[in-house]
Amino acid sequence: MLTGAIFLHDAFTYTDKHIDGVPVAPLALNPERGGPKNLPVVKSYLSDLEDSEQSELCEKPHLVIVGGGWGAIGVINTLKTGDYHVTVVSPETYTTFTPLLPSAAVGTVQIRSLVEPLRKVIARLHGHLLHGKAIDLVMSERLLEVETVTTEGEKVNIYVPYDKIIIAVGSTAATHGVPGLENCYQLKTVGDAQKIRQRIIDNFEVASLPTTSAEERRRLLSFVVCGGGPTGVETAAEMYDLCQEDIMNYYPKMCRQDVSITVIQSREHILNTYSEAISQYAEKKFMHDGVGLVTNARVAAVTPTSVIYTKKGADGKPESHEIPTNFVLWSTGIAMNPFVARLSSLLPNQVHRKAIEVDAHLRVKGAPMGEVYAIGDASTIETSIVSHLLDLVDESDKNKDGKIDFEEWEDMVQKIKKRIPMSEEHLSRVRELFDLYDSDADNSLNLNELAVLLQEIGHKITALPATAQVAAQQGKYLGRKLSKVARQRSVLAANGLTTEAGVDEAVSSPFRYLHLGSLA
Ligand SMILES: Cc1cc2nc3c(=O)[nH]c(=O)nc-3n(C[C@H](O)[C@H](O)[C@H](O)COP(=O)(O)OP(=O)(O)OC[C@H]3O[C@@H](n4cnc5c(N)ncnc54)[C@H](O)[C@@H]3O)c2cc1C
Repeated sequence: MLTGAIFLHDAFTYTDKHIDGVPVAPLALNPERGGPKNLPVVKSYLSDLEDSEQSELCEKPHLVIVGGGWGAIGVINTLKTGDYHVTVVSPETYTTFTPLLPSAAVGTVQIRSLVEPLRKVIARLHGHLLHGKAIDLVMSERLLEVETVTTEGEKVNIYVPYDKIIIAVGSTAATHGVPGLENCYQLKTVGDAQKIRQRIIDNFEVASLPTTSAEERRRLLSFVVCGGGPTGVETAAEMYDLCQEDIMNYYPKMCRQDVSITVIQSREHILNTYSEAISQYAEKKFMHDGVGLVTNARVAAVTPTSVIYTKKGADGKPESHEIPTNFVLWSTGIAMNPFVARLSSLLPNQVHRKAIEVDAHLRVKGAPMGEVYAIGDASTIETSIVSHLLDLVDESDKNKDGKIDFEEWEDMVQKIKKRIPMSEEHLSRVRELFDLYDSDADNSLNLNELAVLLQEIGHKITALPATAQVAAQQGKYLGRKLSKVARQRSVLAANGLTTEAGVDEAVSSPFRYLHLGSLA
């Protein structure tokens, strides 16, 4: 009876995929070498010929998504199956729900609740996961250089060819040149959360030993957070809850007497990018809970046993202070991912310090049109209108007199809104702006007047924040758009669009961010 049931189960659950003899492309086993560094070029994957759907995808344009975070998942979830041969390159095999990292770091949320295997997410697209780290891009040959690591720890670099590539590698922690950051913890990945959790437990256990002095116990249970942004504040709050609620029963005396939590912030207030009400609420809550707040202070160094910071004294002169500690979280903002820094250095006019600049269609500025996109924390949408001045004048100066009259200005405003949609709210008073900047009152704007106008409007545009919401929306926008590009390829070609330039504009409006409130 049981054997019969097993046979029956097998008959319905075994698929063709379980049989031996699935063909493998020879190139997947022995990749040819090529590119400027003569590295193996991954043109084929082991599973490329696994079934007819996979085989058909080999003929489709190759889309490489670099990174497996919020932005990448947005792309993967909105791309339509069958449009691209998709490869995701990521040093982690899973994607992380970052808003829950502070809870995971203190152990109130299990790690498995905030991760999802990337292979599971890309299965719908019959996509491939390449476990490695992007380190360089050869745009002239459309090759991504990826560093992979063998089980022996040996680094093996390979090239991954692409037709289109999306850079979604996020950011790294800003260091501000502070010495001793090797003594700090960061909170960006699941690995970071696990290390923090372990350090907290170790600190409590060593502090509990009868051989530990009172002074050392206080140092072990002094938790310092450098940075009063959302990650720092949330982690400090989670630590407070951990010590005053979750583990109070295990270490009652130490939790009451010896634990201290301190947040050091360089600005006057914590959460200064949020509304004043939120910032004030958080400060009041910390004050009530006894979480130490040191504002207007700069961390000067972190040593293995303390944090040293400077703060102006009553006489206005900077004074140095030291907090003994055995746990420091460094969360003072974001900096450019090294791969993005490399890409940025390869391109002209990429001068942003924290991210790579993209246009309103999320195409990397200066890269071959329609081939290289960037989303999420790795990117920033251009806000400078004045850099388009000459093109705008060329397009809108209908009578070619070198000046822009009001009718031409109205036309120019529409063109600016298309190029830089984030300028829209600053361009609503079209007539007022025209009159305001027409300083010689000749009823037209000359190049100088226009330059001042466009520059000042550009300064008013606020860049989008580095949040999961922005990254996810950009990813979804790009996934939908790229599927449209793939599906309308023949129509576009029939209309003369045979190269990538102009294809994005033909199928889609520029990206627009819709703020839906905060995630956490
Ligand atoms: C602790 C914490 C809490 C947060 N809480 C919130 C919140 O509550 N709300 C909110 O909106 N935002 C929050 N954020 C911010 C949010 O997580 C980021 O804005 C968002 O993750 C950005 O998405 P991304 O896709 O650009 O980058 P990420 O999500 O960071 O993904 C980057 C991906 O690229 C991979 N990668 C990195 N380098 C390489 C490389 N060289 N090659 C290949 N792959 C690479 C990484 O492994 C990762 O998979 C939080 C961030 C942190 C750290």
